[in-house]
Amino acid sequence: MLELSEEQELVISALGDLAANEFAENAFTDDDERPVKNIRTLADRGFLGINIAEEYGGGGMGEFEAMLTIEVVGEVCPDTAEYLYNQQLVAPRAIEMFGSEEVKERYLPGVTDGEETIAIGISEPEAGSDVGSMNTRVKDDGDRLVLDGEKTWVSHVPHSTAAVVWARFPEGLGSAVIDFDWDGVEIQEHYTNMHGGSQSHFYIEDVELPETHVLTRGKEGFKKQLQALNWERVGSATLANSIARCAVSKALEYAQQREQFGREIADFQGIEWKFAEMIKELEASRTLAYRAAIESEQRSRPPNRLQASLAKLYSGEMVESVVSEALQIHGANGYQRGHPLEYLYRFARGRRLAAGTDEIQKNQIARVLKTHGLPTVV
Ligand SMILES: Cc1cc2nc3c(=O)[nH]c(=O)nc-3n(C[C@H](O)[C@H](O)[C@H](O)COP(=O)(O)OP(=O)(O)OC[C@H]3O[C@@H](n4cnc5c(N)ncnc54)[C@H](O)[C@@H]3O)c2cc1C
Repeated sequence: MLELSEEQELVISALGDLAANEFAENAFTDDDERPVKNIRTLADRGFLGINIAEEYGGGGMGEFEAMLTIEVVGEVCPDTAEYLYNQQLVAPRAIEMFGSEEVKERYLPGVTDGEETIAIGISEPEAGSDVGSMNTRVKDDGDRLVLDGEKTWVSHVPHSTAAVVWARFPEGLGSAVIDFDWDGVEIQEHYTNMHGGSQSHFYIEDVELPETHVLTRGKEGFKKQLQALNWERVGSATLANSIARCAVSKALEYAQQREQFGREIADFQGIEWKFAEMIKELEASRTLAYRAAIESEQRSRPPNRLQASLAKLYSGEMVESVVSEALQIHGANGYQRGHPLEYLYRFARGRRLAAGTDEIQKNQIARVLKTHGLPTVV
């Protein structure tokens, strides 16, 4: 679909081979273990944190390349792709973009060598979509900063050492990085979601926040943080695209070996049309995500709100319907507990909620249209 540079081709083909040869056996696990073995392999081969600077052990490439890694790995093992998405485009991304040198040196090498995972804590019990109403606060008494509040639905906490948390500073919203083993940080509960992943609730009580751990504060700082959130949306879209790709590839394989009425079911026009529809939707979704990324690269700034929300919205709707059709092609087999399609179906559903719901993306899209009119022709 896209012209890749020689270096990009090299990375993608090496990673594709690695995923095909080594990740398939751990794919579609239904417990909350991170794909530990795959993460180790990725770290050992230098594929973790491909978009993090080389001085912190990363690959020194960009977010576009990070997206390619998510897609190529996700076709084989969507859980490993989710890990790459989280650790390349969410919390560690914010640390690299906004962190002090001390914080970058403290956290990023652990991420790129696969030893540490950083969670993202935005949601609160009373502040889900309405992020602006959050109650987690930083008090600044001149000598020290003190953080108090609670976060919920936070993914990957059981195996994370730290979290980037969003909080209300005296001058408005901002963000900071905290360690889970600091005094006053207490994990209350881990919930298990439909996909089998864990989402946790934790309290932050009277936690002294070193100045160095503040990532953004003040109007301008937080504006930048919101723009960076568009990478999370485009990353979420890429993850959804990779889940759909995985489902279509499994359906294609199945349809070409399952026979009914004396022929492969892949040869029935009803099934052929399902494939045409699935690929149509998937490729449209990929186009939106890559358009957002390429435009961002050309302008050297995070993806714009319209492109990011379009990619996120479309991919969530697409993956739900594509995975459902891929399951349909598998007949009763695909409906059995433990079957990859059953697993992907549950995994896919979360994409319409996580990283901002469909409805919130629609609000964003409408707001941009009302303020700036239609997107430019080119
Ligand atoms: C798989 C998964 C992983 C997640 N991981 C994390 C994580 O790591 N860190 C984290 O902080 N959070 C995480 N979340 C939480 C996620 O960010 C929230 O679920 C999401 O922001 C919505 O908040 P809510 O669930 O409180 O729903 P609510 O905000 O209460 O919304 C409920 C419904 O009302 C709709 N709605 C709300 N406001 C409007 C409006 N203005 N217009 C129209 N409709 C509206 C919503 O779209 C939704 O359909 C995760 C969620 C999921 C499902």
